[in-house]
Amino acid sequence: MEREKNQILYLVIPCYNEQEVLPETSKRLREKMESLMQRGMISRESRIMFVNDGSKDRTWEIIEELHAENPIYQGVKLSRNRGHQNALLGGLMTAKTYADMVISLDADLQDDIDAIDRFVEKYYEGCEIVYGVRSARKTDTFFKKFTAEGFYKIINLLGGEVVFNHADYRLMSRRALDELERYKEVNLFLRGIVPMIGFQTGIVTYERHERFAGESKYPLKKMLALAVDGITSLSIKPIRLIVLLGMLIFLCSIAMLIYSLFRHFTGNTSIGWTSLIVSIWAIGGLQLLAIGIIGEYIGKIYLETKERPKFIIEKVLR
Ligand code: UDP
Ligand code: MG
Repeated sequence: MEREKNQILYLVIPCYNEQEVLPETSKRLREKMESLMQRGMISRESRIMFVNDGSKDRTWEIIEELHAENPIYQGVKLSRNRGHQNALLGGLMTAKTYADMVISLDADLQDDIDAIDRFVEKYYEGCEIVYGVRSARKTDTFFKKFTAEGFYKIINLLGGEVVFNHADYRLMSRRALDELERYKEVNLFLRGIVPMIGFQTGIVTYERHERFAGESKYPLKKMLALAVDGITSLSIKPIRLIVLLGMLIFLCSIAMLIYSLFRHFTGNTSIGWTSLIVSIWAIGGLQLLAIGIIGEYIGKIYLETKERPKFIIEKVLR
């Protein structure tokens, strides 16, 4: 379904200690927005919203200056550093009150901003969510590329549903954001939750550049934390693996039982070996199985506490 043109776009940019990039970033984004406005693609009420995630440098002062200079710039200040995902959610939930569509992107503009035009076009074609997907990682180091792509594969293997090579560069309509708000979880991994929402979606591919100034705010430690959060907050498959392992070992114990009895009756074993070896396997297997079953219930409790919506209605004909 085609949409009416000239709607309100908000850009949401989480910023943590980004004083080196903000002057340049704000300039490039303003030029982009003005060009979109001139071409009648977005409304004049569209805005650029910076979310200060408890920065320790001059980031917030710069945002205040920008806002005073031109109302196209808006600022949201978190009370302290809460991490990228939370800062992003804070911005999205603030922006959705005023915007028809919101695009989230990083302050360092590693994600090609010329893709914004295509995001908006997809939105007018009727998409509620548009994912930005990296076509190439030419500028990433081998280590970053290897760990990042491995990360998407492992998450999908372990039951999460993420879009391959899509980070947090995406467009969401107000409707999709309203549905996102219904996911009440605290351990937030947006890349995994957004695909759960459904609706008509689209993909825009772009090339990822190098950070033009400042340093990465995602050191290995934060990257690992994000990966663990991604897996454990999305699925209880790791627990299922324990059940599987328990069953496997229990089956082994039965095989061992048969084998040991055979050894016992052919008389070629020492006394006590049979009972010992069979009980070691059987008890080990049963214990793992029991832990797995308990885990299965804990997993259920875990998912219940998240209070995720059970369904989202797209259309009703009546
Ligand atoms: N960021 C944030 N809070 C944090 C860490 C990072 O808001 O605690 C922001 C950061 O300012 C940037 C975005 O998250 O806009 C992505 O960070 P970065 O570009 O450093 O990550 P990388 O591209 O190296 O993965
Ligand atoms: Mg970056």
